[in-house]
Amino acid sequence: MKKYNSKINKIRSFALSLIFIGFVIMYGAIFFKNNQILVLIFMTIGLLCIIGSTAVYGWIGLLSTKAVQVVCPECGKWTKVLGRVDICMYCNEPLTLDPALEGKEFNQEYNKN
Ligand SMILES: [Zn+2]
Repeated sequence: MKKYNSKINKIRSFALSLIFIGFVIMYGAIFFKNNQILVLIFMTIGLLCIIGSTAVYGWIGLLSTKAVQVVCPECGKWTKVLGRVDICMYCNEPLTLDPALEGKEFNQEYNKN
């Protein structure tokens, strides 16, 4: 069975890796310190990654306010559901807001309908 992650967690780890990539690129500019244009290009790309990550974090905040809070039946913790189906942030239990999908095997595709 394929392993799924909660959507909010997935976006959050994407934003985190974007910050990391941004810093690595900016650090890489040190190796081109003899070429000012390359340094400028690397710094700009690195900065764009970090700005992009900030934007993604803002987007997560926006999504979180839209997400429905539910108590996970599996672990009893409050978690957020985005779209028709999502995964519990704590125990990866598939959750659905649509009674028609209850009991069916988890499928990310339901969110596209
Ligand atoms: Zn849970």
